[in-house]
Amino acid sequence: LKTATPLPRITSLTSICRSASTLVIAEHEGGAINAPSVSAVEAAKSLGEGNSISLLLAGSGTSLHDAAARAASFHPAISQVLVVDSDKFARPLAEPWARLVHLVQQKGGYSHIVAASNSFGKNVLPRAAALLDVSPVTDVVNISGSNQFVRPIYAGNALCTVRYIGSNPCMLTIRTTSFPVPSALADSKSNEVPVNQVDLSTLDEDSVGKSRYISQTSQDTERPDLGNAKIVVTGGRALKNAENFKMIDKLAEKLGAAVGATRAAVDAGFVPNELQVGQTGKIVAPELYMAFGVSGAIQHLAGMRDSRVIVAVNKDADAPIFEVADYGLVGDLFEVIPELLEKLPEK
Ligand code: FAD
Repeated sequence: LKTATPLPRITSLTSICRSASTLVIAEHEGGAINAPSVSAVEAAKSLGEGNSISLLLAGSGTSLHDAAARAASFHPAISQVLVVDSDKFARPLAEPWARLVHLVQQKGGYSHIVAASNSFGKNVLPRAAALLDVSPVTDVVNISGSNQFVRPIYAGNALCTVRYIGSNPCMLTIRTTSFPVPSALADSKSNEVPVNQVDLSTLDEDSVGKSRYISQTSQDTERPDLGNAKIVVTGGRALKNAENFKMIDKLAEKLGAAVGATRAAVDAGFVPNELQVGQTGKIVAPELYMAFGVSGAIQHLAGMRDSRVIVAVNKDADAPIFEVADYGLVGDLFEVIPELLEKLPEK
């Protein structure tokens, strides 16, 4: 009997790709791609030398085309913009978007697909991954090479390094706080980048799915967005009611900060759900995070522990928030906040 020569072992399909080609699923607003999508491009850059990055933008109207035209000036790493002008994608509904990603992947054969880990990315990417029959790697906070990623587990209490050994595409959602938007980007000049229309003729007509767009509300505020703010002032259950929570609003206003809240404060109806920070709320990493009457439950810490400087005010000296705080004050917030408001200069 002749012994067959063993075939070389292929450990991963990504490892046999000559170089990465990445599709970034992007959102746009007001004629520009939004900050979380720019973070996704930043993450895509880490996937390897020579990675060619294509940006997928969909929607309708002039905002879409303005965003497509300006995309390259937001990030010189983008080598192509794929535009889908269709009412079907005017709203961020997951089902049609997932079908679109599936279609674009079938045509483009990308090695990686990346989206921000925000409500849009977390809604679309896993569905698209199911259609493509691959397992997504979610909440990536660090990328070392084309198939090795770090992601938090146990509500952020441990970091796990994972290697993707599945078939292409390798699909990732990334934590935007770990891939900040470089400040110089806004001024960078673009190279001429091709903007190509995606042919939708083979898109399944049933792709509308079961979700239906009803309405969108956003708070009319001049405050910075909670996800990107440099300062966040957060209140917890200790505020007792919505009226008292206005102290947090006033303090945030004086500091030019965004307002955050614990889930207990949200569940008690002091503030709307969109202000919740934590495992099941927003992930923030501002320069300064101020927590008033927040115990520091692990689910809350999961959303803010990467903040640069953490200040906590709590009347219980043993509150777990003091374990992560850089500056802690054991005191009653009903005395501390009025004093701060008095001493801080008017804006
Ligand atoms: P409490 O735990 O009641 O703490 C109130 C604190 O205020 C205490 O430390 C107290 O000493 C202090 N205090 C009281 N009075 C004063 C005063 N006058 N002055 C100063 N200090 C005072 N929580 C989140 O925040 N975000 C999440 O995303 C989140 N996700 C969750 C997901 C799951 C699956 C689960 C099970 C829980 C989640 N939670 C989340 C809830 C979390 O476990 C805590 O219950 C919550 O964070 C507690 O909020 P709190 O600190 O406002 O309230």
